[in-house]
Amino acid sequence: MAMFRQIAGLAGILAAVSSSNAATSFPCDHLAGVEGRGRLSIVFFPEAFDDSTRLDYDSTVARGVARFFEVSPYREYRDYFALYKAWIPSKKTYVGNTPSDSTVFQSYFPSEVPAMAGMEPWVRTQTDSTFRCRDRPSDFLKEAISVIFVNRFGSMGGSGITNGSRLTVLMGKTGIDNVLPHELGHALGGLVDEYGQRGWSPGAGHFDSLGRPRFGPVPNVVASLDLQKIPWKAWIEPTTPIPTPDQPEFDTVIGAFEGGDLRNTGRWRPARRCMMRGESFGFPPFCKVCRERLVYDILRQGAQLSRLYGETRFTRLRLDTVSPVPDTDIESGRVVVRFPRVDTSPLHPRWRYNGIELPNRSDTLDVSTLSGSGVLEAVLVGESPFIRNPDLIPRDTLRWTVRMSSATRNGIGRHDGIRRMGPSLFMAPPCAALPRWARSANGKRVPLQVVATTANGTLLSGASMVGEALFLEAGGSETKATGGIR
Ligand SMILES: [Zn+2]
Repeated sequence: MAMFRQIAGLAGILAAVSSSNAATSFPCDHLAGVEGRGRLSIVFFPEAFDDSTRLDYDSTVARGVARFFEVSPYREYRDYFALYKAWIPSKKTYVGNTPSDSTVFQSYFPSEVPAMAGMEPWVRTQTDSTFRCRDRPSDFLKEAISVIFVNRFGSMGGSGITNGSRLTVLMGKTGIDNVLPHELGHALGGLVDEYGQRGWSPGAGHFDSLGRPRFGPVPNVVASLDLQKIPWKAWIEPTTPIPTPDQPEFDTVIGAFEGGDLRNTGRWRPARRCMMRGESFGFPPFCKVCRERLVYDILRQGAQLSRLYGETRFTRLRLDTVSPVPDTDIESGRVVVRFPRVDTSPLHPRWRYNGIELPNRSDTLDVSTLSGSGVLEAVLVGESPFIRNPDLIPRDTLRWTVRMSSATRNGIGRHDGIRRMGPSLFMAPPCAALPRWARSANGKRVPLQVVATTANGTLLSGASMVGEALFLEAGGSETKATGGIR
């Protein structure tokens, strides 16, 4: 499994984490979001905090969480997240220059790297089942993003990295207001830094000497000005000069500005200013390109893992509720497909039955309104006002097989064959119960009269509108039939 590393140290540290730590299970307090509903989990961890500094850790986490939800697009999609705070005390409250087992993650600053070149943390993977949140499933941490707050490093920024299937952010508590949203841009969106060379690090960057991505697609920096190869070309207006001059008049323009991914030349970024351009530039909001990528990854479950490892098994759209379980048989009841709430445009499923789109626009579908047996589909499209690139609109289709019970078949479900024969004249195929009246689009109730019964069915008159709902009389009570007049 290839390791994908985001080098993002704003000052950085070198950390090594051994798997020999004695910590087993530990408390993980639920801080925000809805549990167990397909949310994107973020778990905060303490490094070099002991019981006497626990309140300091608690307030650091609280401030980080508050700030996280102030930054767009985390703000608009806050209901997609579930946040947790782990507590594991260390035996000392500082990180030294040599490995030590006195802190939870055994991180250290090697003295030979004075200002830090990068980091190589080894966080326990999900294969170490002894490292787990107490009272939660053993795989709870598997897809969670870990944020490790390191005590007492005033100059330290942070680093968003991935290792194995863990997505990890390691950061000092100083500068938390902007470092946390920035580092989560690395860990969550796979975004790279949009700043150029730093004194502390020449940095290998994410491209090889020929300008090819070394670890997989890079969403927000390119090593070529070929417009067709710019991942964010959907955002570039034809009138925008490429490369784009680094001048204030282009502050709000998406183009190709030189400098990014730790290089001052030969790399281009989408915007003049962006959260991913970093601290020296005041941590402005995420540019539209970075925001688009983050929304895509927020909407799509497992997007990070599939990008890192080419896996496609975690590619569903995140849902708040899906019931019953897709790919099962259903006979009756309701099918519910609900997205988490968003502050932008709400998302709803589009329903399809045997390939035909249904007029239903709600999150719930009553199976008894369907005609006969067949395949029910909920078509999910992860649209967002923040997404312009058509390749970044996540799509998914959920399916159920509907098998009508015999009672259902006898009562309703056979009126989708009603055909228009002339003005206010319709032919209903032979069936157990005849439609008695129809409701027109404006809610008006129109009685249906039997004109004649033939071998082909029953001739009815009365209704007039295509698509009118039919109501049956069966067993003395009226029931809405499936289908309508065509
Ligand atoms: Zn950006």
